[in-house]
Amino acid sequence: MRVILLGPPGAGKGTQAVRIAEAFGLPHISTGDIFRENVRGGTDLGTRAKSYMDAGELVPDEIVVGMVGDRLAEADAAEGFILDGFPRTVPQAQALEDLLVDRDAPLDVVLRFIVDHDEVVARLTGRRTCTGCGAVFHLEHAPPATEGVCDSCGGELIQRDDDTEDVVLNRLEVYRKQTEPLEHFYWERGLLRDVEAVGEVDGVAERALAVLRDYAG
Ligand code: ADP
Ligand code: AMP
Repeated sequence: MRVILLGPPGAGKGTQAVRIAEAFGLPHISTGDIFRENVRGGTDLGTRAKSYMDAGELVPDEIVVGMVGDRLAEADAAEGFILDGFPRTVPQAQALEDLLVDRDAPLDVVLRFIVDHDEVVARLTGRRTCTGCGAVFHLEHAPPATEGVCDSCGGELIQRDDDTEDVVLNRLEVYRKQTEPLEHFYWERGLLRDVEAVGEVDGVAERALAVLRDYAG
């Protein structure tokens, strides 16, 4: 099953991707996570991406598309994948379509997470992320057992540089201008399905999994 999670930053894509990936035994491929690993590791890719990320702008398409092409060529993506944070522009979506046509492995579905603006601002500014394993928490909605410490790996929890309010507002504007056109792109192809993404995390997961069961196996 080949799935895209679409929705603004803070919609809960990463939170749900972990659950969906586990339920279906598929890799969770987050371009934001790959970039952050590269920034942490000081790689050339990380160096090229960092200034865009810190400003809440998109990394140029050619960099992202090459990176995703390499990732999808790995063995674990042969039977399917959950893409989180990619594509984010129409050229990225076109490049993905071309790549999947070449492999005779079309997309099954694009889940659009529906959340309003004020809710995503509150989610992003309250988000805390583990520097060790990338696990995500929220000061109010999903606090760790011990303040500042990751429940999963014991790593330090921080606020991402791009989760401060001014950068968040820019990211949401970038989403509106550059990523929202994908809704029409996938609607035209009959691939778009909506998931009401407000309320308990488990409730959102139930709704997302119910849609995906229509496409599984
Ligand atoms: P995205 O990957 O779409 O940017 P995340 O999954 O990182 O979003 O979620 C953003 C923040 O919102 C995190 O702090 C997460 O704990 C919190 N969150 C996720 N889902 C919900 C939900 N259903 N209700 C409240 N908070 C949520
Ligand atoms: P995310 O973790 O998905 O919120 O992504 C964090 C940041 O990584 C974004 O604000 C962009 O700077 C960069 N990024 C992640 N995915 C993409 C993408 N598909 N295209 C361009 N930039 C991306």
